[in-house]
Amino acid sequence: MVKRFTQRIGAICTGAVLTFGSICTNFGAAPITASAADANYARLLQYSLYFYDANMCGSDVKSKTGMNWRGNCHTDDAVPGGYHDAGDHAMFGLPQGYTATALELSYLEFKDAYEATGQADHIKMILDRFATFFKNSTKLSGDNVSNFLYQKGNGKVDHGYWGPPESQSSRSNEMYWTSSGASDIAANYASALALHAKNFGSSEDLNYAKALYNFSTRYNQCAKDGPSGFYDSEKCKDEQTMAAGCLALATGDSNYKNALSSGVKEIGVWWAYGWNDANLGAAVMNGIVNKDWSAANSYIGGKCNGSGYLFMDKWGSARLNCSMQFMALVATREGAGNYTDWAIGQMNYILGSNPANTCFVTGFASNSAKNAHHRGASGYTSYSQFNGNNWDPNGDHSQPFAQYGGNSKPLIGALVGGPCDAGGSYHDNMNDYVCNEVAIDYNAGLVGAAAGLYHFKKSGTTDTSINGVTKIYSGGGSSSETEPSDTTTTPHSSDPYVDPSGETTREAVVTGSGRKFDINVAGASKVTVTFKTNSNDWEATGCFGYMGSKWEQDDWKANAQSGTVKVEYDIPSGVNSLQFQIFWPESATFESAILTIPGGGGSSISTETTTTSSSKDNPHNNYKRGDVDVSGSVDILDAVLLARVAAEDTKCGVTDEGKGNADVNSDGSVKTDDLTKLLKYLANILTEAQFNA
Ligand SMILES: [Zn+2]
Repeated sequence: MVKRFTQRIGAICTGAVLTFGSICTNFGAAPITASAADANYARLLQYSLYFYDANMCGSDVKSKTGMNWRGNCHTDDAVPGGYHDAGDHAMFGLPQGYTATALELSYLEFKDAYEATGQADHIKMILDRFATFFKNSTKLSGDNVSNFLYQKGNGKVDHGYWGPPESQSSRSNEMYWTSSGASDIAANYASALALHAKNFGSSEDLNYAKALYNFSTRYNQCAKDGPSGFYDSEKCKDEQTMAAGCLALATGDSNYKNALSSGVKEIGVWWAYGWNDANLGAAVMNGIVNKDWSAANSYIGGKCNGSGYLFMDKWGSARLNCSMQFMALVATREGAGNYTDWAIGQMNYILGSNPANTCFVTGFASNSAKNAHHRGASGYTSYSQFNGNNWDPNGDHSQPFAQYGGNSKPLIGALVGGPCDAGGSYHDNMNDYVCNEVAIDYNAGLVGAAAGLYHFKKSGTTDTSINGVTKIYSGGGSSSETEPSDTTTTPHSSDPYVDPSGETTREAVVTGSGRKFDINVAGASKVTVTFKTNSNDWEATGCFGYMGSKWEQDDWKANAQSGTVKVEYDIPSGVNSLQFQIFWPESATFESAILTIPGGGGSSISTETTTTSSSKDNPHNNYKRGDVDVSGSVDILDAVLLARVAAEDTKCGVTDEGKGNADVNSDGSVKTDDLTKLLKYLANILTEAQFNA
């Protein structure tokens, strides 16, 4: 039954996919409107994560990446691991730490989206790799950081090479360590590790986070040697304030909370959250932790409105846009405004509803950007191969055009720089690193926005095969979704209760496990589901769904602070089977589903249940022929359950009373002839009288 339900959802979601095609191909330069159809956010989230597989660095790439064209690289780095920065291969600490922090925040806020779309394992693998790399890069002496590696590779040297990372010569003499500086980067690593501890519960991560934060505030020196000319940071206070916020969230410590609120007052907000400016991230954290949204909301509210594309800078404009979507959706999720429609419109633009008629996410649509500035994906092994003497290393987006050749590799889910101006000019030119580069920090905002949009819209479904990908993470109603192998059945039978209004209540037959259950609600007007949570979550979310002429779904949200969550649902008439889903929290223990049977329907449920028997010689007071699920009526669901009883399926959840009712021909046992008789009755081959004879 669970299987059948899943397939139904799959069919519906497949229908929804059709909207994506039109978004990425048919909208011309239409203005951004909130009424535009939702895109396939499940698939967008799925694809956007694969960029991190493409940019993995180290000796574990082969075993972890999902891309069939990637292998191990830079294995003699002092600390192998981490991710290549962009279309190049250096590891710059500032964007590395920002990216990990932003991805952790997206998982923290929108875990339900990752779970529901089957992406939780993928994001965890990616985040575990970041955390491991940051810890391996940090040398502790007791609780203090004595030394840490904040950059691998020299930017100028690295950019002199065009080819796949696997073939790049050693850079082992280009390792940047510090014992008294790079406070901005140390704070970023601290943020990422604190959130990793919060998300996945490692005390070791938290210890490293505290040590790196202390190191950062002890020296207050931004990194210069190494990132100079590439990722210069003017100040450390913004990254430190963000780190205080992440540590406050992970520990609840009031010292961190105070450092967060005073820091936000000091630094203000003046730009999108990104590798160089943690201000807005810190302000959002102040909202989450200290419930003070004033700084975040005044900035977000000023930017995230209107009907045009939010263009903030020509260098990677789509990255800034997606980061703003992400922050706005976090604010929405936390109850500080409602920017969902605005974000939908912006994302439609990113996905192709723009003057260039181009989807700015690679590999996502037929009109996706095809020539991203990315060495590994380009398929070329030298500069001269692709542009002869046209190369201008200091050029801008007007420089000579270059495109991928026959050896190019599928780059999946990477956000390119995007429009070069507010009017939407864009060139799909591999030479154009201003508007057509891809980078791990670009994708962090895209991932966050995709997860947020899925959280609010639940639209789309994931793919089960992707060009160039060998490890598929999928789910969310797609046809490849695997059911839990340990599906359990919750057996239920209880004495009905009759209240003065004539209504009765009884426990429903429920099948399923984990966070997805099918409830037999035949004959009931209302269902009350109770489950327990173990976490410290403030609220629980989920949905009731059923198959009418199409899949219908009503989301619910409930207070979870007491540890017990009760959700009531008025069952639409004619619905016999409901699906109950818990989106959040991720661990929940199902307790019960109590049905309310309206007055008339209650008549078949007697309160005189004292002893039970299935013998025809001593018919039970409640005996109702064929009513296997004891719902008060006889329908096809009874036949399904009867078949399971006849097959001696001990997990079918049928009560003793139901088993008695399953003995349709009253011969003292339940066999296939009982099923035949029941089916004949349901098919109107037998009359009511013949059935009861
Ligand atoms: Zn590498």
